[in-house]
Amino acid sequence: MALKRIYLDNNATTQPAPEVVEAMLLYLYEKFGNPSSKSHYFGWEAESAVENSRTILANFINADKKEIVFTSCATESINTVHNGISESYSFKGNHIISSQVDHHASLDSLANLENKGIEVTYLPVDRYGLVDSYELEKAIKPNTILVSIIYANNEIGSLNNIKEIGQICRNRNVLFHTDAVQALGKIKFDVQEQFVDLASFSGHKLHGPKGVGALYIKNKVKLKPLLFGGGQENNLRSGTLNVPGIVGFGKAVELANNNMDEDAKRISFLRDLLYLELKNQIEGITLNGHPENRLPGNLNISIDGVKADNLIAEIKNIAFSTSSACTSSKAKVSHVLKAIKLEENLLSSTIRFGLSRYTTKEEILETIKIFSEKIQYLRSISPLTLING
Ligand code: PLP
Repeated sequence: MALKRIYLDNNATTQPAPEVVEAMLLYLYEKFGNPSSKSHYFGWEAESAVENSRTILANFINADKKEIVFTSCATESINTVHNGISESYSFKGNHIISSQVDHHASLDSLANLENKGIEVTYLPVDRYGLVDSYELEKAIKPNTILVSIIYANNEIGSLNNIKEIGQICRNRNVLFHTDAVQALGKIKFDVQEQFVDLASFSGHKLHGPKGVGALYIKNKVKLKPLLFGGGQENNLRSGTLNVPGIVGFGKAVELANNNMDEDAKRISFLRDLLYLELKNQIEGITLNGHPENRLPGNLNISIDGVKADNLIAEIKNIAFSTSSACTSSKAKVSHVLKAIKLEENLLSSTIRFGLSRYTTKEEILETIKIFSEKIQYLRSISPLTLING
């Protein structure tokens, strides 16, 4: 009998909610108009759907709907911020601050700007992957134009104190952007209360569709666009809008808004059960990331003496990952694990589970059973790895 498939890779992507798919279908089949078509009903109804999603997202993060721009993904949002701010604020300076554990969507976008003469400081982090606010403040210089720091880490789940970072930036008159991709819909995110000037989001991380992202740009922040053309999104992001995607994104945010606290409680309970039972049953398991201050659904552990790739090869019915989805295919050692100074022998023995609203207790119990068996099996056939890592 085929084993039941269990999906525990929700930091890579999430299953679209049935309500999301249903809402989108209408805008694929019937209401297929272009929101820029101002002369007929097809255009008007598409525009009204886009505006509805904009309002939902704006309300959810405590912004004004005029401050929301829809994009094709968070990578585009982040690149738009970095490029746009460095061009629009070149009169003020050319220095940007980020961190060593930001996502590659940020790090590679900044590396590209370094080639164009922008100076970037990548702040080191503590053993939990968190930026020290004092170090951040020390790094701000008269020519600093932007601080761009990840909120919730996609690999180890730790949550930066973005309110404190935002407050420092506000006091020092420096713009603050946060990559809030993993945080949106999972934990509190309020642009007013947390002093955020710019933020990037992605639909597919909160049970919405892929291929749609958003950008929050605080009123009065000037930003040169990345894409030029039809002038959509108030001239900030040209290109015909992905109406079904935006509708799905809006629905996903609405669902998150209705269930966030309850989901977080249930999911973190299951996450802790998974961790504590694995730790009880198997020797040599350590947690990466902050023990409490972390995403409800993220569990990142190192398993002494067992190669993550061997576990992946052994366990076919459970989806989990060795590092972030974006880097695992490149077969590189995780920059996050290196930045938190994980012992060398554990770098390739580290795995990530991502739980979601749809994860059940039965699935977690099954996962504990299978991992416990397979880890013991792998250790039994390769005693040397226990010693040598
Ligand atoms: N930032 C973080 C923290 C992520 O986890 C991801 C996706 O893995 C991205 C940015 C990129 O998002 P997208 O796939 O929408 O470009």
